[in-house]
Amino acid sequence: MKSGRGVWGLIATVAAFVGLLVVFGLTIFAFRANVERWARRDLLTQAELTAENLREPLATEDYRRLGEIARQLAEKEMMLRVRSTRGGWIFKSDYRGRTVEESAPCGEFTVSVGLSTSRVHKPFYDALGGFVLSALVGVLAMGVVFFTFYRQWVRINELNRLERFRRDFIADFSHELKTPLTGILGAVDLLSDSVLTALIRKEATRLNELATSMLELARLERAGNGLKLEMANIEDILLEVRTRFMSVAESNGIAIDCANGLELAPAMDKWVLLDREQIARAVSNLVENAILHSGGTRLTLAAQFDDKELLISVADDGVGIPATERKRIFERFYRVERSRTTPGSGLGLAIARSIARLHGGDLTYVPVEPHGSRFLLSLTIR
Ligand code: ADP
Repeated sequence: MKSGRGVWGLIATVAAFVGLLVVFGLTIFAFRANVERWARRDLLTQAELTAENLREPLATEDYRRLGEIARQLAEKEMMLRVRSTRGGWIFKSDYRGRTVEESAPCGEFTVSVGLSTSRVHKPFYDALGGFVLSALVGVLAMGVVFFTFYRQWVRINELNRLERFRRDFIADFSHELKTPLTGILGAVDLLSDSVLTALIRKEATRLNELATSMLELARLERAGNGLKLEMANIEDILLEVRTRFMSVAESNGIAIDCANGLELAPAMDKWVLLDREQIARAVSNLVENAILHSGGTRLTLAAQFDDKELLISVADDGVGIPATERKRIFERFYRVERSRTTPGSGLGLAIARSIARLHGGDLTYVPVEPHGSRFLLSLTIR
């Protein structure tokens, strides 16, 4: 497959160069033909003029005058021939070599004026050097451009292939990891409770959650448009998330406030076409983060609509995220240094952002004054 593509690339390159050479050859040929045409036009004018001048000397057989005109033409490197229409030469300049000639009638005679072919084509040969050079530079430049594009194209293909491999590998690996982990968790449940079994259960559960998150992110990245869209009430989704986290929030000393923002939205607008399960998952990740990492006392969930967007906001009054870390928090496995002691895999925000992007939106961070964080999940309304 890969070498096949390489062969086609080579054929395309050779074809492009042959094409360029043909165009170049035809251009030179046309240029040369034009130079000769211009020369012939001048020669014809000169022949007509000479015929006019020779009319009288020929009629009176004034050969001295004819010789003078021939000499004048010779000074311009032109040759003169005069032929009788009844046949036979009357006058012929002493000139050897190939010439380009044009003739004009003059009574019973035909007057021809000629110029050596090397003289006719001189402007062409004078210009040819520069012409060939600029054409070569042009071909070379095109070659470089073509080669650069080709290399970029090969690189992009390779990166896409690696990205596909990475996604598939993570998905397969996490999937395979889950089976033995479920076995371990099942086996631990059969053992009598002790400090050791509690530790094994805790670590195995963490590992299982990590595998689930990795699998989920890989599936989301692979999903493309594979969302299960349905008409859902956004207020219901947010209230459901609040209920789910109510007791954990309470034990962490943080209150979840859900009313204000939602009351701003007109009832009709609360129904939106989206993947209900995924959006609940994204909002849950943000709420869980505020509970585990913010250290705040108040968490506010709100939803707002504008023309084309539904904005879901999860804000807290906690420590916030330092400016230097804000760019990186959406990367997979990235965790802010001080959060290393709290549970988490560093995948929550990456998952939430993937879900937002699959909905034609995004997830962004806005700092809250004087302290705290606001995560904005924007979704395109369909
Ligand atoms: P994790 O699994 O660690 O929660 P995330 O991708 O969800 O991973 O978050 C990345 C990091 O961003 C977290 O480790 C935490 O340090 C920081 N973070 C996320 N939300 C908040 C928040 N509301 N307040 C303070 N820090 C946060």
